[in-house]
Amino acid sequence: MFQNKQHSIALISVDGDPAIEIGKQESGGQNVYVREVGYALAQQGWQVDMFTRRSSPEQATISQHSHNCRTIRLKAGPSKFIGRDYLFHYLGKFVAEFQKFQQQQGFQYPIIHTNYWLSSWVGMELKKQQPLIQVHTYHSLGAIKYRSISNVPVIAVERLAVEKACLETVDRVIVTSPQEQKYMRTLVSTAGRTEMIPCGTDIDKFGKVDKATAREYLGIASDLKMVLYVGRFDQRKGIETLVRAIAKSQLRGKTNLQLVIAGGSRPGQSDGIERDRIAKIVAELGLKDNTMFPGRLDDTVLPYYYAAADVCVVPSHYEPFGLVAIEAMASRTPVVASNVGGLQFTVVPEVTGLLAPPKNQVAFAAAIDRILTNPEWGKHLGETGRQRVEIAFSWHSVASRLAQLYTSLLAKSTSVTQSKSPVAA
Ligand code: UDP
Repeated sequence: MFQNKQHSIALISVDGDPAIEIGKQESGGQNVYVREVGYALAQQGWQVDMFTRRSSPEQATISQHSHNCRTIRLKAGPSKFIGRDYLFHYLGKFVAEFQKFQQQQGFQYPIIHTNYWLSSWVGMELKKQQPLIQVHTYHSLGAIKYRSISNVPVIAVERLAVEKACLETVDRVIVTSPQEQKYMRTLVSTAGRTEMIPCGTDIDKFGKVDKATAREYLGIASDLKMVLYVGRFDQRKGIETLVRAIAKSQLRGKTNLQLVIAGGSRPGQSDGIERDRIAKIVAELGLKDNTMFPGRLDDTVLPYYYAAADVCVVPSHYEPFGLVAIEAMASRTPVVASNVGGLQFTVVPEVTGLLAPPKNQVAFAAAIDRILTNPEWGKHLGETGRQRVEIAFSWHSVASRLAQLYTSLLAKSTSVTQSKSPVAA
């Protein structure tokens, strides 16, 4: 089946199915990253297999995306949604199923790219059982996350230990921003090899429509001031700060101000609790008429929402990278974001948007108002944002840099193997 073994790669994302609907429950940036890196590598000629855990009986075991790219769902634990904090227990089974799959194919992957700490454990176990190169992207670091939440889960001890072991032992850790690199070195370990390759976005999908067309398509009046949030309903996303900022906006009552909070799924699912909490705050602040919850937006409409917005707000308490910021920038929409993590790298203050301290509703209100009251400047920020994304954050360039890294690691491992073999000696 595989014509070129050296160019075959397994992307492993136990908890983040690349082919699932994005924006609900725990699916977000990690799923998008794996999917887009996978697609882009396949376009560049790699044989790409994306491995994840089967989380519903309706899911196909194998989804073929193109002749050289597929998603493979392994049965590890019950075929239902299980929160990330409860998956560790099933990882041994995931490793066994991965081995079984390789045996059936009569083939071993020479390189794997693991995503999130759960998959890093899977990769490190596989590495004990067969020769392979392991590249890892964290997507989120327990050491930072646990500083920003009050209820630290029981699994925290394992997670912190696995994250440290991963950084110190795998062949290369991808850091997606200089900020992540700094956190990793100060909070996780000074040992281990890293390489800075950012996340990317689809610069053809985002930015293909102008504001007037997008508003006409969505039925949004041209004089409306539209503030957009896109993402999961999770407390660390800081949606409450945004809602409270809108309540404090100087424009409230004076102009047609609309907050659009996109993402999330149905009541009763894990993110429904946060959605209900946010809806309650909206009601308490008398913002019901100014707020819309369109639910999860798929790829066919999301580019229109970004293009229609006057400002996109990313109010996270902590954000390892933050794809939403670069998607908005690619759509020529200025961004107001928290002054944290990867957002400090992607959003250039006064150039592509503004930064505000996390949880500071007064600062967010002031930043949003500055952009809304100066549309010409907002347009300029949006144009500069687009340029920045084109230069630094297209998936194509991200995948090319990853491919170069994989190729050089594979070449090094081949030369080491050859020099160790009796024939070469
Ligand atoms: N997303 C989406 N539809 C929604 C909400 C979110 O497609 O309704 C996507 C969004 O476009 C982005 C991802 O989910 O690509 C969120 O990634 P980000 O890095 O901003 O946050 P994470 O979910 O990883 O914390």
